Amino acid sequence: MKRVSRLNRILAILQAVILTCLFLFASASAETGSGEVLTVGVPADRCPVFYRDAESGYITGIGVDLMRFAAEKAGYTVSFRVIEEETLPQALDSDSYDLVLPFGSAVRSASGRPTVVSDNLIRTPFTLVTKSGGYLPPWNSLHVGMLASLKGGAETVRELYPGIKIVLYNSIEEAVQALRKGEVDALLHNSYVWSYVLQKPAYSDLSVQPSAMLSMDFRAGAPDTPAGREMMDRLNGGIAEITDTFRQAIVLDFTTRRLYRYDLSDYLSAYGLIILLCVCLIVAVILIVIEKQRTMKLEQEEKMRQLIDQDSLTGLLSLEGFLKQAENMLRNHPEQPYVLVYANIRNFKYINDNLGKDRGDDLLRFWAEKSREALPDGDIICRIAADHFAMLSRAEGEAKLERYDQHVIDAVRSYFTDRGREVRVQICGGIYVLTPDDYKDINIYRMLDYARMAEKKVRETRRDGYEFYNPEQWDKGKQVAEIINHLPAAIRDGNIHVWYQPQVNGETGEIIGAEALCRWDHDKLGWLYPPAFIESLEESGMIYDLDCYVWNRVCEDLHRWNEQGIHRSVSVNVSRCDLLKNRDLPGHFRDLVKAYDLTPDQLRIEITETAFVENPADLISLTGKLQEYGFEVEMDDFGSGYSSLHMLKEVPVNRIKLDLHFLTESGDSVRGRTIISYMIRMVRDLGMKMITEGVETEEQARFLRSKGCSEMQGFWFYKPMPVEDFEKAGTTER
Ligand code: C2E
Ligand code: MG
Ligand code: MG
Repeated sequence: MKRVSRLNRILAILQAVILTCLFLFASASAETGSGEVLTVGVPADRCPVFYRDAESGYITGIGVDLMRFAAEKAGYTVSFRVIEEETLPQALDSDSYDLVLPFGSAVRSASGRPTVVSDNLIRTPFTLVTKSGGYLPPWNSLHVGMLASLKGGAETVRELYPGIKIVLYNSIEEAVQALRKGEVDALLHNSYVWSYVLQKPAYSDLSVQPSAMLSMDFRAGAPDTPAGREMMDRLNGGIAEITDTFRQAIVLDFTTRRLYRYDLSDYLSAYGLIILLCVCLIVAVILIVIEKQRTMKLEQEEKMRQLIDQDSLTGLLSLEGFLKQAENMLRNHPEQPYVLVYANIRNFKYINDNLGKDRGDDLLRFWAEKSREALPDGDIICRIAADHFAMLSRAEGEAKLERYDQHVIDAVRSYFTDRGREVRVQICGGIYVLTPDDYKDINIYRMLDYARMAEKKVRETRRDGYEFYNPEQWDKGKQVAEIINHLPAAIRDGNIHVWYQPQVNGETGEIIGAEALCRWDHDKLGWLYPPAFIESLEESGMIYDLDCYVWNRVCEDLHRWNEQGIHRSVSVNVSRCDLLKNRDLPGHFRDLVKAYDLTPDQLRIEITETAFVENPADLISLTGKLQEYGFEVEMDDFGSGYSSLHMLKEVPVNRIKLDLHFLTESGDSVRGRTIISYMIRMVRDLGMKMITEGVETEEQARFLRSKGCSEMQGFWFYKPMPVEDFEKAGTTER
């Protein structure tokens, strides 16, 4: 192999030496530069026949060298110029050139002038190129693509092969596309040009058909004038001096030069996959580096955050971390009752001074560890500083506090005695029970202050133990927890009862309806009335469960009565919290009456005046929707708020329910009566119905009758009663 390549190199050198000698000899024998100047027009897009040298910028190529040689032999000085015109026949009409190259035979110029052509400079081989492995029909039925600039050549081919069909294209690329699409069977072009063009990697799917070759003449042309003819005669003399060896040497020289230079698209085509892989690799590396940096940054930030949020001695939260987490917990769980505990070691200074700071640190770490073990998920603890700890814990009754006291505080108390030392650790704690206001305006510092104040009370009065800052709140909290936790079971076990308080016509005593009021037969606490649990359920968001249950029971009763032929109407209470829980309450009631086969007038919807005051826009639209479905809406506890009169103007309810308590409880009863009588008139004038509740005496009933308010509800007539009693009430004497 090696020997062959060395031989090739020697041959190439020899070739170059012979060519140079020939050229020097030919040049020396020519009458260079002595005669007139001939301007020869040539195309520049047919490397290696005609092209512009990349380094020198001059026009060169096989055709140029042959022409120069012949012209100089004929006594001319020759200058080459790139043809600016679109076609060679057009160039023949131009004054810019004395001669135009190349022509196969004499043609007419674009304007129709006859031309003369020189003798043949060289016979140029033309070859067919097809798609690799493509089928090639016989010449006479071939569809061939050629360049438009070879129009003259195309005509010669047509003459040679009459059956051939030639399509002309403006560029090689266009012609190759047509071949690939199958529009032509092959492309025909000068073989030397092919040897250059097919070096392009993008054309590697094309191959030369060596068997399908033909030769064409390569002549210079000029207008057929006496001067033109004389010039051709002289030129033919020069052409006659071109030897075959010289021709072959020139062809060999240009066809073996590495003329084709890769452009970007060639590199992409040749090495596209490798380049793509490299680019992907580089991008992947960059992405990995960026991602790595990002995670490192995040990790660092997380570490920093942990350093800030964590107490380095105990591993518990630091005060900063505690404040952040506590605030989030309260914000995310506004319905969850919490306590904030503050605790410290009363004799910590003594421990540090007498047992050493290290033992003190051990004790703190022990406390932290015990707390971590004992605290359930969702509770948090921090070391504020020194021996001060704070804890936010879900309020779940005394048992939980006792558990913490036994498992953690007792163990801390006896930490040293358990290890044979005579020191008993004294712990003082203060507990603050969060109130609903604490969730609205979250201020952990303020809560800590309260807990600290309770702790101070312990320190000042006792050796250790804990105190509540607000024990009433704690009791209330316990009750709330008791209620919230037991409601589902109470509903399930039928411990929630619906009682009815009849509503009467004060003139006749006839029962005209009833209000449904719930009662809770509590396992531990006995019979509970709404004031004992409604607020807790509202705060915890569970009132909706209770109300849905009550509404269903009422509908059940109404349905039963309907079946017995008794058409009754009952007012049910709707909490303002229900409105938030179900955004489509009207739809809910509509479905309910439908499910129990009732008419909407049987269910009256009571909404308190305060709910209307809190959210007038929503309530007005809710009222409208309910009325649209056929329900009557009642404004409950009218007179309890401060905006009663304003509300009358704004809200188009069907019935006003005036609560006597608010108007008779305090103040001057004479003035109260005056207000009531004006209210009755006003409501009547506004076209609304009115019922008065809380009627306790005969005297009140008489007064109301005298003022024209005949619908009444109150203990004077009936107290709320179980359903069985209510069913009998209409029929028995009071
Ligand atoms: P309310 O809707 O204004 O119901 C009337 C309350 O006044 C009832 O109290 C009733 O027993 C009481 N009452 C009736 N007549 C008289 C009287 O002559 N004198 C006095 N002093 N009181 C009288 P109750 O049943 O304790 O209910 C209290 C409140 O609890 C109700 O006020 C209502 O707002 C609410 N509530 C009751 N049941 C439910 C319920 O199922 N769901 C909801 N969301 N709230 C309910
Ligand atoms: Mg009511
Ligand atoms: Mg009421």
